[in-house]
Amino acid sequence: MKEYDLIAIGGGSGGVATARRAAEYGARVLLIEAARLGGTCVNVGCVPKKVMWYASGIAQALRDAPGYGFAEVAGRFDWATLKQRRDAYVERLNGIYAGMLDKSGVELKRGFARFSGPRVVEVEGERFTAPHIVISTGGRPALPDLPGAELGIDSDGFFALEAQPRRVAVVGAGYIAVELAGVFHGLGSEVSMLVRGDRLLRPFDAMLRDELAAQMQEDGIALRFGTRARALRRQADGSLLVDCGEAGSLEVDALVWATGRQPNTDRLQLAAAGIEADAKGTIPTDAFQNTNVPGIYAIGDITGRAELTPVAIAAGRRLALRLFRGGSDSKLDYENIPTVVFSHPAIGTVGLTEEEARKRFADVKVYSTRFTAMYNALTEHRPKTSMKLVCVGADERIVGAHVIGDGADEMLQGFAVAVKMGARKADFDDTVAIHPTSAEEFVTMR
Ligand SMILES: Cc1cc2nc3c(=O)[nH]c(=O)nc-3n(C[C@H](O)[C@H](O)[C@H](O)COP(=O)(O)OP(=O)(O)OC[C@H]3O[C@@H](n4cnc5c(N)ncnc54)[C@H](O)[C@@H]3O)c2cc1C
Repeated sequence: MKEYDLIAIGGGSGGVATARRAAEYGARVLLIEAARLGGTCVNVGCVPKKVMWYASGIAQALRDAPGYGFAEVAGRFDWATLKQRRDAYVERLNGIYAGMLDKSGVELKRGFARFSGPRVVEVEGERFTAPHIVISTGGRPALPDLPGAELGIDSDGFFALEAQPRRVAVVGAGYIAVELAGVFHGLGSEVSMLVRGDRLLRPFDAMLRDELAAQMQEDGIALRFGTRARALRRQADGSLLVDCGEAGSLEVDALVWATGRQPNTDRLQLAAAGIEADAKGTIPTDAFQNTNVPGIYAIGDITGRAELTPVAIAAGRRLALRLFRGGSDSKLDYENIPTVVFSHPAIGTVGLTEEEARKRFADVKVYSTRFTAMYNALTEHRPKTSMKLVCVGADERIVGAHVIGDGADEMLQGFAVAVKMGARKADFDDTVAIHPTSAEEFVTMR
């Protein structure tokens, strides 16, 4: 049996970050990956998604161009060309990840890992052991259990699409659902969103939710709230008929399930090592990423907390520091994690929603603004930008910053630093604005 200081199972955002950092601290590290290096983010998540979002933004810019004097802008879009170029980029990244692991001195084992005993990991009959084992196996899309569900695709299937469907239904209300719906629509598909409840992006600040829903509707996406897909049927012409019960039916060329994800623990044989998971398969950890078994840790999506790439990376790096550099207190602070939704327009958010703040604090003051960004002064398409600062206490500490509008994606990171540092409204007021930008409204709200 081969021995290491650390074994990381899963070569996605979390596993790669932990393995590389540990190896850089001098540990002998084995990383096991069953599929493509980089995991969800690189292959079927953040990266290809952002490429599609850029493409959809270019389509919008072409539509806006006449407002800036460009009379004849050709904009014939070819999905297959974009996919080919996007796949090539992702493949380059796969190679870069392999190179980075090699450079950091991490040994890579290709194959599917399972526990076969306490602290023993097996890959196709080969056995490995280490005093420290990190589970970073992430998750995969979950399909609902209803007739014909398999006729739809999930977010992985979205990235595999070779051609653009003309009419699409996206089922779900989370960030992946609104992002994919926005991309399809921006690139010219006819889009319906089927939303079981009465709102999009449920955990987000109401301002963001309402503005996004209004803008999507204004842009021509059919938001069908209170609508459940109950069954799918393939019709003779190849189209899909979506049965929505009392809400009627819908004919589309593709349906995307964006209804949640499930953790990749079902085939890991956790029981062989005595590791506990909850009913869904998520592995609970304490603040230091420790599972119930000493020496076995879980990071990233598999822990079911803040399922974002930088969270998996940050948790993994802190764990490596703790295990191999004596950073005994090193752990990730899960408060104030900023996040962006690559919707149209984009959303940026950090900290508490107004609703959460009002539940937690007696003394809440909210500043908000709504305006048309200067870019849209000359365009026919006139989405609104909205911002909100949620402040608490006599000194107006900022506990939440929220923005929806063009540029929100690049705007929020710096403000997230300020919020994390405990900035007060007076600190924002005291910061000289950058003009003319949308971001300046964050420091000029009254
Ligand atoms: C459509 C979509 C868009 C997203 N967009 C964003 C975004 O814009 N920003 C953001 O921050 N996050 C985004 N995310 C979330 C982000 O991708 C995840 O939070 C992140 O990838 C989690 O990293 P991880 O290391 O926990 O798991 P993963 O990246 O999923 O990696 C897990 C790896 O483990 C491997 N594996 C699983 N089981 C085994 C096994 N038994 N043996 C060996 N290998 C195994 C898998 O093949 C996989 O490579 C998006 C996700 C999706 C689905």
